[in-house]
Amino acid sequence: MQEISFANITTDVPSYPAADEKDITVTILRLDKVHPLISGNKIFKLRYYLEEAKLLDRKKIITFGGAWSNHILATAAACQLAGFEATAYIRGEEPATRSSTLTEASQLGMKLIFVAREEYTRQKRKLADETGDAYIIHEGGYGTKGAEGAATIAQHFHQSGYTHICCAAGTGTMTAGLLMSALPVQEVISISVLKNNLQLETDIQALAGTCTGQLTTIHDYHFGGYAKYKPELIHFMNEWYRRSMIPSDFVYTGKLFFAIDDLIKNNFFPPGSKILLVHSGGLQGNTSLSKGTLIF
Ligand SMILES: *Cc1c(COP(=O)(O)O)cnc(C)c1O
Repeated sequence: MQEISFANITTDVPSYPAADEKDITVTILRLDKVHPLISGNKIFKLRYYLEEAKLLDRKKIITFGGAWSNHILATAAACQLAGFEATAYIRGEEPATRSSTLTEASQLGMKLIFVAREEYTRQKRKLADETGDAYIIHEGGYGTKGAEGAATIAQHFHQSGYTHICCAAGTGTMTAGLLMSALPVQEVISISVLKNNLQLETDIQALAGTCTGQLTTIHDYHFGGYAKYKPELIHFMNEWYRRSMIPSDFVYTGKLFFAIDDLIKNNFFPPGSKILLVHSGGLQGNTSLSKGTLIF
């Protein structure tokens, strides 16, 4: 399998007339280029968990997620690269045909155990209590070590060059990491991709502890909820690609780019703002859309 390459990460400044008009610059941190399967923020969130598992001499990693989860596929690939056995508990009954995400995870040697939705939360709690000789990574990599790993994303951009650092949030682990590494004058803006996840800010603060950056969570751009979308979002993603040649995914980064575009147009950012948009990867999730939906 292809090795992970942090050297592939770039900071791109695409043409952006709507931002120019407001005297705002937008830079994209291309974490999506790190690896095709362990893409975007996932390797950063996983790195210290895997390191600890090695230190503790655990042979097996157990984790949790849904059928199209970027975290599941990234964990499967990272475990294969690092020489761990991997098992994942997948939310929901086994479907007649598996998603491409699960097919690929399974080809990478990950054992998949399907758990009915009603059972899933109970099973997660139970397993988290009885680690045995396995090392447990929580769903989405949520946890302190995940945030500490995400804080190392900051090694890949020039920190003092930005007034705002913006990212998409599921569990908020990446946001917590970006907040931990932020400067006191910087604002970290976290776009929730879940509907009404009012827990998000508390979850982020719980991981980030007493950090210096300023956090804003925004809940208005979920498009109906997690992995839900509307034609407006798809249209935006295609237009964004036409202008910048940067692909996005409809679960996370498409919603992030849409949100920031909308906020720029509505004067949320003062003139002179230098915005860093974290492209956290996740492009494999687009395979769940029917062919031709996206132009890339
Ligand atoms: C997992 C993921 C996120 C969310 O990260 P959290 O740390 O759970 O908030 C954001 N973007 C992409 C592309 C992801 O795959």
